Amino acid sequence: MYDRILIRFGDLTLKGKNQGDFIRQLYKMLDEKLQGLPITIEKKHDHAYVLLNGYDYNEVIERLNLVAGIYSYSLVKKIKRDLDILKEESLNYINELVKGPTTFKVEAKRADKTFNLTSPEVSKIISAHILKNNKLVTADLHKPKLELRIEIRSDGIYLFNSQIRGLGGYPTGIAGKGLLMLSGGIDSPVAGFLAMKQGIKIECIHFESTPLTSIESANKVVDLVKIMAKYAPGNKILLHMVPFKNIHMQLLEKVPESYNITIMRRMMYRIASKVAANNKDLVLINGESVGQVASQTLQSMATINEVTNMPVIRPLATYDKLDIIALSRKIKAFDISIKPFEDCCTVYVPKAPSTAPRAYKARHFEEAFPYEEYVDEAVKNTKSLWINTFSDLDLSMYGLEVGEAIDEYHKAKQEGNN
Ligand code: ATP
Ligand code: MG
Repeated sequence: MYDRILIRFGDLTLKGKNQGDFIRQLYKMLDEKLQGLPITIEKKHDHAYVLLNGYDYNEVIERLNLVAGIYSYSLVKKIKRDLDILKEESLNYINELVKGPTTFKVEAKRADKTFNLTSPEVSKIISAHILKNNKLVTADLHKPKLELRIEIRSDGIYLFNSQIRGLGGYPTGIAGKGLLMLSGGIDSPVAGFLAMKQGIKIECIHFESTPLTSIESANKVVDLVKIMAKYAPGNKILLHMVPFKNIHMQLLEKVPESYNITIMRRMMYRIASKVAANNKDLVLINGESVGQVASQTLQSMATINEVTNMPVIRPLATYDKLDIIALSRKIKAFDISIKPFEDCCTVYVPKAPSTAPRAYKARHFEEAFPYEEYVDEAVKNTKSLWINTFSDLDLSMYGLEVGEAIDEYHKAKQEGNN
């Protein structure tokens, strides 16, 4: 039925060079995500067509939904510039879509003025033809359930109906690179997705406390990165695994319980800032949402944020938990996020964390151990690995501690390659 998909771009209010960059990056991502399918991409200045060449459009749409910067798309049928063919094909189009009584409207647009009928004339003729031959539909010019659009161009006539919304946003990568603090929970993968949708290329950092926590919880993080990598340039994301156990132990032994989480998070921010600087990541990104838990009150955020000069982007700051869950399901992260493995924030949950931790107290309590040395050691021992959407990496195959598991993984891979 449909022979092509029309793709409309997002925010083209961008001017000059930005617009050029936008379109270039969008096409790069489009090429990448549609790679391997027997389709052809026709690139125009401010829109594109995917010629299906007989291929299943559902499969293509699934891939288009991975490309940020696409505002909307429509299923299109291209026909000859001939009124009789137009009448017949318009009716076919409606017959195919309409399964029960509904309302419709025809909206014709004559982009090429050499066609011998005006837009209103075409609309009227086609509308009448459909009304006469399909008894399920009635006309409604104001709020039709179905709109058949007809675009008359010099190379043919294009039929299409509703516009399906794409991801929107900006092509991933166009905005520069940021470091996502990724836990195994629901929020941070959604924050990562939103950041990518806004054009940011992400790397991920995870603080792991094996063997205090299980390697399965680290593995869950790998699986979440695989999910996010579907949206990333090259289908891959760099993951920095920070050994956090030593700091964790210090916190449990030396810091008052009510300030434990606050100081733990100050350590995470310190380490993340250093790893970001080492990797030229310009911002930190995390899944914090105002008010969600004790560590996410404004007072708490201020006290935690004090330790870094880097901008911190919190895409979910004002989101409702239910909206976050809906997004988590949409990107298919939810089922992984809710797997019940403890992470460093759940293995030890203080009974009464402070909801209004003060910075001067935090500064005082964290002097209980030489934290700068611990921070530097953690940064030094951080292991970075590329996670590909299609990789079969499973850390739990390799034993208890994540660092060792990563080494084993690389070794096995090298041996396999030789
Ligand atoms: P999430 O569902 O993302 O785990 P949360 O509601 O459980 O979030 P917290 O555990 O307080 O909230 O964490 C807030 C944010 O801090 C997370 O969204 C994440 O960005 C970051 N974070 C927490 N724990 C870790 C970790 N072990 N490694 C990396 N980042 C973390
Ligand atoms: Mg968490």
